[in-house]
Amino acid sequence: MSDNQNIDTTTNINETDTNKTSTDHSDDYEKICYVCRRSESKAGEMITMPGGMNFCHECMQKAFDSISKSGMDFSKLQNMPFMNMNLNDFAGMQMPNTEIPEKNKIKKKSKAKDAEKFLTMKDVPAPHQIKAQLDAYVIGQERAKRAVSVAVYNHYKRVILRQQDELRANENTEEKAENAAAQGMQMQGGEPEIEKSNILMLGPTGSGKTYLVKTLAKLLDVPLAIADATSLTEAGYIGDDIESVVSKLLAAAGNDVEKAEQGIIFIDEIDKIAKKKNTMSRDVSGESVQQELLKLLEGSQVEVPVGSNQKNALTPMATVDICGGAFPGLDDIIKERLKKRSTMGFNSHLKDEFDNDPDILSQVTTEDLRNFGMIPEFLGRLPVLVSLQGLTKELLMRILKEPKNAILKQYERLLALDEVKLVFEDDALEWIAERALEKDTGARALRAILEDFMMDIMYEIPKDPNIGSVVITRPYLEKKGGPRIEMRG
Ligand code: ADP
Repeated sequence: MSDNQNIDTTTNINETDTNKTSTDHSDDYEKICYVCRRSESKAGEMITMPGGMNFCHECMQKAFDSISKSGMDFSKLQNMPFMNMNLNDFAGMQMPNTEIPEKNKIKKKSKAKDAEKFLTMKDVPAPHQIKAQLDAYVIGQERAKRAVSVAVYNHYKRVILRQQDELRANENTEEKAENAAAQGMQMQGGEPEIEKSNILMLGPTGSGKTYLVKTLAKLLDVPLAIADATSLTEAGYIGDDIESVVSKLLAAAGNDVEKAEQGIIFIDEIDKIAKKKNTMSRDVSGESVQQELLKLLEGSQVEVPVGSNQKNALTPMATVDICGGAFPGLDDIIKERLKKRSTMGFNSHLKDEFDNDPDILSQVTTEDLRNFGMIPEFLGRLPVLVSLQGLTKELLMRILKEPKNAILKQYERLLALDEVKLVFEDDALEWIAERALEKDTGARALRAILEDFMMDIMYEIPKDPNIGSVVITRPYLEKKGGPRIEMRG
């Protein structure tokens, strides 16, 4: 075995990746400096060492400077176990595996020149098309479905406009700079930039907030990150912080930054971080978390750790951000305001009507939310306010049978495998909806109620192969009789 078989010590700092094979897709990923963990887009071009370790010029320079000054022991430095070894020792040896695992890699942002990758208006579904798709899954909540459809449509437009701006900037920068210099002018941006239209979604538990967002992401095939505001704390405190939400999204997008930017971030239980009134202690979960969230809502650059210890900066998070919460007690704040107004005018007879209005949340204003404890800057970043209505008996009955993946359809499908037809009578559905209403957890209660008696049905029915159909009746659910069984033939 010759000494310099694998490694030419005179050219051990080369620009090519010796590990690269013709079939790998390492070109799609950014190189990451082995010392400072910055990516190529941040730290500039990398120097690739044999074995696939990459170093940025700055770290490489620092290393050489230190050697020439003091001849220090690099093995004592974090992340640099190989630096004081003689590269000759590696000749003919298998290099340590420094490949970054797939899940920790960051996809390169493609250049704006990559025009065929661009979104065009032809690719973007119109709001009424988005809503029609949502209708197949989410029952009721018409206003909320319209609002998110428009918000998503505008989001895509914003993406398209930004791509066009980038493209134009790339094409024109040099030319413009020359012209501007010639005419003694300052370069200017021209078109107005479209701001993010983040959504604040109010509605009682189980009314479909999370479900609406999840369905939207699935239909549009965009990555989604769901986080709970109560687990968010200021960076540095125990708990998740904003960075972790963004890295969740990045993970959902397969570490593809561009894909992540088309994604949706849903922060649930946002009402729980309302500013507490009259507290002396440092407010780690209230106002300061709202302040932290502002960064995200503004679309400012968020530095995201990818994988275990690699830090990488993301470009502005242009995601659709949706905050949701049940806001208990907000209805009283709204009623209070409405009553005050009506006692001053002629409408004092309306006072009782407010108390009985199930859809009172739809009258919410930012003033009410401020009184609830949300800070003005935060509300200012959530221009779209939508309220979901508490589900009524009729809506709950429709939720049981109408959505594409309705619970009843799921049971029907299960029993169809036993070649048994499952039928629910309308008054049986009504009974189920009534029980769900009592539980006060919206549509969430439905499955548990059904599961309770469907287990018996699914246990008993396969015993007798002659059974052709089972009809679930109200008396059966009220435990006043059995289900109606019909035999085959
Ligand atoms: P929340 O408003 O508390 O976020 P979820 O969206 O989690 O409530 O709703 C719980 C479950 O109830 C969902 O997974 C979905 O199956 C069902 N559900 C709630 N609202 C609706 C709705 N409007 N249409 C269809 N299903 C719904």
